[in-house]
Amino acid sequence: MAADLYTRYMAASDQWRAHRKGCPSCTDGRRRCADGTRFWNRFCDLQDAYLTHLRTR
Ligand SMILES: [Zn+2]
Repeated sequence: MAADLYTRYMAASDQWRAHRKGCPSCTDGRRRCADGTRFWNRFCDLQDAYLTHLRTR
């Protein structure tokens, strides 16, 4: 369960970083395209969920 959440969190992180690398518009501080925004939001959601899980364990 926790491992699954962590795996999804890491996958979202990889997706976002891969996009950021290949996208001329997006940087760490700015998401300027629809894909970048989607990846970033997914990464943030999973990061929140993962950190919440760690705190409430
Ligand atoms: Zn982008």
